[in-house]
Amino acid sequence: MKRLTIRTPKGAALKMNDTYQSEAEAKDDLMRKYRIAIERLADYEDMGLTPEEVAELVKRTTRVKPYAESDADRLCGHCYSYIDWDALNGRVEDAPKYCKSCGKPIDWSDKKGGAE
Ligand SMILES: [Zn+2]
Repeated sequence: MKRLTIRTPKGAALKMNDTYQSEAEAKDDLMRKYRIAIERLADYEDMGLTPEEVAELVKRTTRVKPYAESDADRLCGHCYSYIDWDALNGRVEDAPKYCKSCGKPIDWSDKKGGAE
């Protein structure tokens, strides 16, 4: 998602990052960005979630890479529980999608089943 705002180096203020040829051009652009921001706020409010609930969802749904404890064994990259899957004989495509212990989604994208 392209940002509409930037933070100052101190992080306290938000500022549009554009240069304008005229006052009218600046006003038009500001109104366009205001309407886009209102639409995004409405989309967010339509979800009915608090910022804390959104942060919790992101935390819960962010995939973790498995940890290779040995050639055959993989551990959840979040809670370090054994993943019920044999890395030597199994195919990554058949590996579990979620950790049975903590429920985190597991990222098998490296196809080797985890880094050492
Ligand atoms: Zn886990």
